[in-house]
Amino acid sequence: MSGRFAPSPTGPLHQGSLVTAIGSYLEAKKRKTPWLLRIDDLDGFRSMRGARDEIMRSLDAHGLHWDGPVQYQSNRIEVYMEALSNLEEQDVLFYCNCSRKLLKNHRVYPGTCRKQSNYQSDRAIRISTKNRVITCPDQLRGNRSYELETAFGDFIIVRRDQIISYHLATAVDDGSPEIDHVVRGYDLLHETPKQQYLMELLNLRPPEYAHLPVLTDEDGVKLSKRTGATPVNPKNAKENWFITLRLLGLNPPVDAANWEIKELKKWGMEAWQLELVPQQSAMIMDT
Ligand code: GLU
Repeated sequence: MSGRFAPSPTGPLHQGSLVTAIGSYLEAKKRKTPWLLRIDDLDGFRSMRGARDEIMRSLDAHGLHWDGPVQYQSNRIEVYMEALSNLEEQDVLFYCNCSRKLLKNHRVYPGTCRKQSNYQSDRAIRISTKNRVITCPDQLRGNRSYELETAFGDFIIVRRDQIISYHLATAVDDGSPEIDHVVRGYDLLHETPKQQYLMELLNLRPPEYAHLPVLTDEDGVKLSKRTGATPVNPKNAKENWFITLRLLGLNPPVDAANWEIKELKKWGMEAWQLELVPQQSAMIMDT
Protein backbone atom coordinates (compact mmCIF):
# COMPACT_ATOMS: atom_id res chain seq x y z
CA MET A 1 0.00 0.00 0.00
CA SER A 2 1.32 3.43 -0.92
CA GLY A 3 0.65 7.11 -1.42
CA ARG A 4 1.90 9.08 -4.38
CA PHE A 5 2.79 12.47 -5.77
CA ALA A 6 2.02 12.88 -9.46
CA PRO A 7 3.27 16.13 -10.97
CA SER A 8 2.95 16.94 -14.66
CA PRO A 9 6.27 18.12 -16.08
CA THR A 10 4.84 21.43 -17.23
CA GLY A 11 7.19 23.60 -15.18
CA PRO A 12 9.21 23.66 -11.96
CA LEU A 13 7.62 23.10 -8.54
CA HIS A 14 6.06 26.19 -6.97
CA GLN A 15 4.86 26.73 -3.41
CA GLY A 16 1.43 25.24 -4.25
CA SER A 17 2.95 22.03 -5.61
CA LEU A 18 5.14 21.83 -2.52
CA VAL A 19 2.03 21.88 -0.32
CA THR A 20 0.70 18.84 -2.21
CA ALA A 21 4.09 17.13 -2.26
CA ILE A 22 4.69 17.58 1.48
CA GLY A 23 1.05 16.84 2.40
CA SER A 24 1.06 13.58 0.45
CA TYR A 25 4.51 12.72 1.81
CA LEU A 26 3.52 13.26 5.44
CA GLU A 27 0.30 11.28 5.03
CA ALA A 28 2.21 8.35 3.50
CA LYS A 29 4.79 8.50 6.31
CA LYS A 30 2.10 8.66 8.95
CA ARG A 31 0.55 5.54 7.47
CA LYS A 32 4.01 3.98 7.34
CA THR A 33 3.61 3.30 3.64
CA PRO A 34 5.90 4.10 0.69
CA TRP A 35 5.54 7.43 -1.11
CA LEU A 36 5.76 6.98 -4.87
CA LEU A 37 6.60 9.48 -7.57
CA ARG A 38 4.69 9.36 -10.84
CA ILE A 39 5.36 11.76 -13.68
CA ASP A 40 2.17 12.54 -15.62
CA ASP A 41 3.86 13.11 -18.94
CA LEU A 42 1.33 11.93 -21.51
CA ASP A 43 0.74 15.38 -22.89
CA GLY A 44 3.93 16.14 -24.78
CA PHE A 45 2.55 19.49 -25.96
CA ARG A 46 2.27 20.80 -22.43
CA SER A 47 5.47 19.28 -21.08
CA MET A 48 8.34 21.66 -20.60
CA ARG A 49 11.84 20.62 -21.49
CA GLY A 50 13.90 19.98 -18.38
CA ALA A 51 10.93 20.31 -15.99
CA ARG A 52 10.91 16.65 -15.07
CA ASP A 53 14.52 16.69 -13.87
CA GLU A 54 14.07 20.03 -12.18
CA ILE A 55 11.06 18.71 -10.24
CA MET A 56 13.06 15.71 -9.07
CA ARG A 57 16.04 17.83 -8.07
CA SER A 58 13.76 20.14 -6.14
CA LEU A 59 12.04 17.25 -4.32
CA ASP A 60 15.43 15.86 -3.47
CA ALA A 61 16.66 19.20 -2.12
CA HIS A 62 13.60 19.31 0.15
CA GLY A 63 14.40 15.85 1.49
CA LEU A 64 11.35 14.42 -0.25
CA HIS A 65 12.85 11.11 -1.32
CA TRP A 66 10.43 8.87 -3.12
CA ASP A 67 10.37 5.12 -2.73
CA GLY A 68 11.13 2.76 -5.61
CA PRO A 69 11.55 3.69 -9.25
CA VAL A 70 9.84 6.75 -10.74
CA GLN A 71 6.79 5.82 -12.81
CA TYR A 72 6.33 7.60 -16.14
CA GLN A 73 2.88 7.54 -17.65
CA SER A 74 4.48 7.77 -21.09
CA ASN A 75 5.94 4.27 -20.51
CA ARG A 76 2.53 2.80 -19.74
CA ILE A 77 0.61 3.38 -22.94
CA GLU A 78 0.06 -0.36 -23.39
CA VAL A 79 -1.58 -0.65 -19.99
CA TYR A 80 -3.93 2.24 -20.80
CA MET A 81 -4.72 0.69 -24.20
CA GLU A 82 -5.75 -2.51 -22.43
CA ALA A 83 -8.11 -0.52 -20.22
CA LEU A 84 -9.46 1.16 -23.34
CA SER A 85 -10.21 -2.24 -24.95
CA ASN A 86 -11.92 -3.31 -21.76
CA LEU A 87 -14.19 -0.26 -21.93
CA GLU A 88 -14.77 -0.82 -25.64
CA GLU A 89 -16.00 -4.33 -24.89
CA GLN A 90 -18.48 -2.88 -22.40
CA ASP A 91 -19.94 -0.74 -25.17
CA VAL A 92 -19.66 2.53 -23.25
CA LEU A 93 -17.40 4.41 -25.69
CA PHE A 94 -18.18 6.39 -28.81
CA TYR A 95 -16.30 8.47 -31.37
CA CYS A 96 -16.89 12.17 -31.42
CA ASN A 97 -16.08 14.69 -34.10
CA CYS A 98 -17.90 17.67 -32.60
CA SER A 99 -15.93 20.84 -33.09
CA ARG A 100 -15.21 23.26 -30.24
CA LYS A 101 -17.41 25.75 -32.02
CA LEU A 102 -20.32 23.33 -31.99
CA LEU A 103 -19.93 22.67 -28.26
CA LYS A 104 -19.25 26.26 -27.32
CA ASN A 105 -22.78 27.00 -26.20
CA HIS A 106 -23.22 23.87 -24.10
CA ARG A 107 -22.25 23.72 -20.45
CA VAL A 108 -21.73 19.96 -20.72
CA TYR A 109 -21.44 17.66 -23.71
CA PRO A 110 -24.95 17.23 -25.16
CA GLY A 111 -24.50 13.62 -26.29
CA THR A 112 -24.50 14.48 -30.00
CA CYS A 113 -22.30 11.61 -31.21
CA ARG A 114 -23.40 8.95 -28.73
CA LYS A 115 -24.48 6.58 -31.49
CA GLN A 116 -21.28 6.96 -33.49
CA SER A 117 -19.25 3.77 -33.50
CA ASN A 118 -17.05 4.18 -36.58
CA TYR A 119 -13.39 4.74 -35.97
CA GLN A 120 -11.60 7.61 -37.67
CA SER A 121 -8.19 8.75 -36.62
CA ASP A 122 -9.15 12.39 -36.10
CA ARG A 123 -11.97 11.68 -33.67
CA ALA A 124 -11.97 11.89 -29.93
CA ILE A 125 -13.30 8.97 -27.88
CA ARG A 126 -15.86 9.82 -25.21
CA ILE A 127 -17.44 7.71 -22.53
CA SER A 128 -21.16 7.58 -22.05
CA THR A 129 -22.13 8.70 -18.54
CA LYS A 130 -25.84 7.86 -18.81
CA ASN A 131 -27.60 8.36 -15.51
CA ARG A 132 -24.75 7.32 -13.33
CA VAL A 133 -24.50 8.72 -9.84
CA ILE A 134 -21.08 8.45 -8.18
CA THR A 135 -20.41 9.13 -4.52
CA CYS A 136 -16.92 10.28 -3.65
CA PRO A 137 -15.76 10.10 -0.05
CA ASP A 138 -13.09 12.67 0.79
CA GLN A 139 -11.23 12.52 4.08
CA LEU A 140 -11.27 16.28 4.44
CA ARG A 141 -14.56 17.15 2.85
CA GLY A 142 -16.90 14.25 3.51
CA ASN A 143 -19.05 12.52 0.88
CA ARG A 144 -20.16 14.18 -2.33
CA SER A 145 -22.50 12.69 -4.89
CA TYR A 146 -22.43 13.63 -8.54
CA GLU A 147 -24.85 12.88 -11.34
CA LEU A 148 -22.25 12.41 -14.00
CA GLU A 149 -24.38 13.24 -16.99
CA THR A 150 -25.66 16.54 -15.65
CA ALA A 151 -22.45 17.51 -13.89
CA PHE A 152 -19.96 16.71 -16.67
CA GLY A 153 -21.63 15.02 -19.63
CA ASP A 154 -19.85 12.33 -21.60
CA PHE A 155 -16.20 13.13 -21.06
CA ILE A 156 -13.14 12.47 -23.19
CA ILE A 157 -11.14 9.27 -22.81
CA VAL A 158 -8.85 9.68 -25.80
CA ARG A 159 -8.30 13.12 -27.25
CA ARG A 160 -8.69 14.03 -30.88
CA ASP A 161 -4.88 14.12 -31.17
CA GLN A 162 -4.94 10.49 -29.92
CA ILE A 163 -3.46 11.27 -26.50
CA ILE A 164 -4.89 9.17 -23.67
CA SER A 165 -6.81 11.46 -21.32
CA TYR A 166 -5.59 12.35 -17.86
CA HIS A 167 -8.72 10.67 -16.44
CA LEU A 168 -8.18 7.28 -18.01
CA ALA A 169 -4.46 7.17 -17.20
CA THR A 170 -5.01 8.38 -13.64
CA ALA A 171 -7.89 5.98 -13.01
CA VAL A 172 -5.73 3.06 -14.12
CA ASP A 173 -2.72 4.20 -12.08
CA ASP A 174 -4.49 5.27 -8.90
CA GLY A 175 -6.73 2.19 -9.12
CA SER A 176 -3.70 -0.07 -8.96
CA PRO A 177 -3.70 -2.29 -5.85
CA GLU A 178 -0.44 -0.63 -4.82
CA ILE A 179 -2.06 2.76 -4.17
CA ASP A 180 -4.37 3.02 -1.19
CA HIS A 181 -4.51 6.80 -0.67
CA VAL A 182 -4.25 9.91 -2.80
CA VAL A 183 -3.56 13.36 -1.38
CA ARG A 184 -3.75 16.08 -4.03
CA GLY A 185 -5.03 19.58 -4.75
CA TYR A 186 -8.60 20.81 -4.37
CA ASP A 187 -8.64 21.70 -8.08
CA LEU A 188 -8.98 17.96 -8.72
CA LEU A 189 -11.82 17.34 -6.25
CA HIS A 190 -14.49 17.53 -8.94
CA GLU A 191 -12.42 15.40 -11.31
CA THR A 192 -12.47 12.50 -8.87
CA PRO A 193 -15.98 11.25 -9.79
CA LYS A 194 -14.91 10.76 -13.41
CA GLN A 195 -11.91 8.75 -12.27
CA GLN A 196 -13.98 6.73 -9.80
CA TYR A 197 -16.50 5.98 -12.53
CA LEU A 198 -13.72 4.61 -14.75
CA MET A 199 -12.29 2.59 -11.86
CA GLU A 200 -15.71 1.09 -11.25
CA LEU A 201 -16.08 0.07 -14.90
CA LEU A 202 -12.55 -1.33 -14.92
CA ASN A 203 -13.16 -3.21 -11.71
CA LEU A 204 -10.44 -1.31 -9.82
CA ARG A 205 -10.64 -0.34 -6.17
CA PRO A 206 -10.57 3.43 -5.66
CA PRO A 207 -8.04 4.73 -3.12
CA GLU A 208 -8.99 7.00 -0.21
CA TYR A 209 -8.85 10.64 -1.23
CA ALA A 210 -7.99 13.90 0.51
CA HIS A 211 -7.97 17.18 -1.43
CA LEU A 212 -5.79 19.93 0.06
CA PRO A 213 -6.46 23.62 -0.51
CA VAL A 214 -4.67 25.10 -3.51
CA LEU A 215 -2.61 28.28 -3.34
CA THR A 216 -3.66 31.31 -5.32
CA ASP A 217 -2.21 34.72 -6.07
CA GLU A 218 -3.86 37.85 -4.70
CA ASP A 219 -6.41 37.81 -7.51
CA GLY A 220 -7.55 34.33 -6.59
CA VAL A 221 -5.84 32.67 -9.57
CA LYS A 222 -4.39 29.27 -8.75
CA LEU A 223 -0.60 29.10 -8.83
CA SER A 224 0.22 26.85 -11.72
CA LYS A 225 3.40 25.47 -13.20
CA ARG A 226 2.04 25.95 -16.68
CA THR A 227 1.34 29.63 -16.22
CA GLY A 228 4.75 30.34 -14.79
CA ALA A 229 4.20 30.54 -11.00
CA THR A 230 7.44 31.46 -9.25
CA PRO A 231 9.41 28.25 -8.66
CA VAL A 232 10.43 27.34 -5.13
CA ASN A 233 14.12 27.89 -4.64
CA PRO A 234 15.72 24.62 -3.49
CA LYS A 235 18.36 26.72 -1.73
CA ASN A 236 15.65 27.92 0.63
CA ALA A 237 14.42 24.40 1.31
CA LYS A 238 14.26 24.89 5.11
CA GLU A 239 12.23 28.04 4.87
CA ASN A 240 10.00 26.44 2.22
CA TRP A 241 9.33 23.54 4.57
CA PHE A 242 8.51 25.91 7.38
CA ILE A 243 6.06 27.90 5.22
CA THR A 244 4.47 24.69 3.93
CA LEU A 245 3.98 23.23 7.40
CA ARG A 246 2.17 26.40 8.40
CA LEU A 247 0.03 26.33 5.26
CA LEU A 248 -0.90 22.75 6.11
CA GLY A 249 -2.34 23.90 9.42
CA LEU A 250 0.61 22.99 11.63
CA ASN A 251 2.29 25.29 14.05
CA PRO A 252 6.05 24.74 14.09
CA PRO A 253 8.10 26.75 16.62
CA VAL A 254 9.35 30.06 15.22
CA ASP A 255 12.97 28.98 15.15
CA ALA A 256 12.07 25.92 13.05
CA ALA A 257 12.82 27.88 9.87
CA ASN A 258 16.48 27.42 10.79
CA TRP A 259 16.28 23.73 11.55
CA GLU A 260 17.84 21.11 9.33
CA ILE A 261 15.48 19.48 6.80
CA LYS A 262 15.81 16.20 8.71
CA GLU A 263 14.44 17.86 11.85
CA LEU A 264 11.69 19.65 9.99
CA LYS A 265 10.62 16.35 8.44
CA LYS A 266 10.66 14.61 11.79
CA TRP A 267 8.65 17.39 13.41
CA GLY A 268 6.22 17.37 10.48
CA MET A 269 5.70 13.61 10.65
CA GLU A 270 4.88 13.78 14.34
CA ALA A 271 2.58 16.78 14.06
CA TRP A 272 0.82 15.88 10.80
CA GLN A 273 -2.91 15.30 10.95
CA LEU A 274 -5.22 15.63 7.96
CA GLU A 275 -7.85 17.03 10.33
CA LEU A 276 -5.70 20.11 10.94
CA VAL A 277 -5.51 21.08 7.26
CA PRO A 278 -7.57 24.22 6.59
CA GLN A 279 -10.96 23.34 5.17
CA GLN A 280 -11.13 26.02 2.52
CA SER A 281 -10.64 25.25 -1.17
CA ALA A 282 -7.95 27.88 -1.68
CA MET A 283 -5.48 29.99 0.28
CA ILE A 284 -3.81 33.18 -0.85
CA MET A 285 -0.06 32.99 -1.06
CA ASP A 286 1.55 36.14 0.33
CA THR A 287 4.52 37.07 -1.76
N1 GLU B 1 -0.56 15.64 -12.77
C1 GLU B 1 -1.55 16.45 -12.15
C2 GLU B 1 -1.01 17.84 -11.90
O1 GLU B 1 0.19 18.05 -11.90
C3 GLU B 1 -2.02 15.92 -10.82
C4 GLU B 1 -2.60 14.60 -10.95
C5 GLU B 1 -3.17 13.99 -9.68
O2 GLU B 1 -2.64 14.21 -8.58
O3 GLU B 1 -4.12 13.25 -9.85
O4 GLU B 1 -1.80 18.73 -11.71
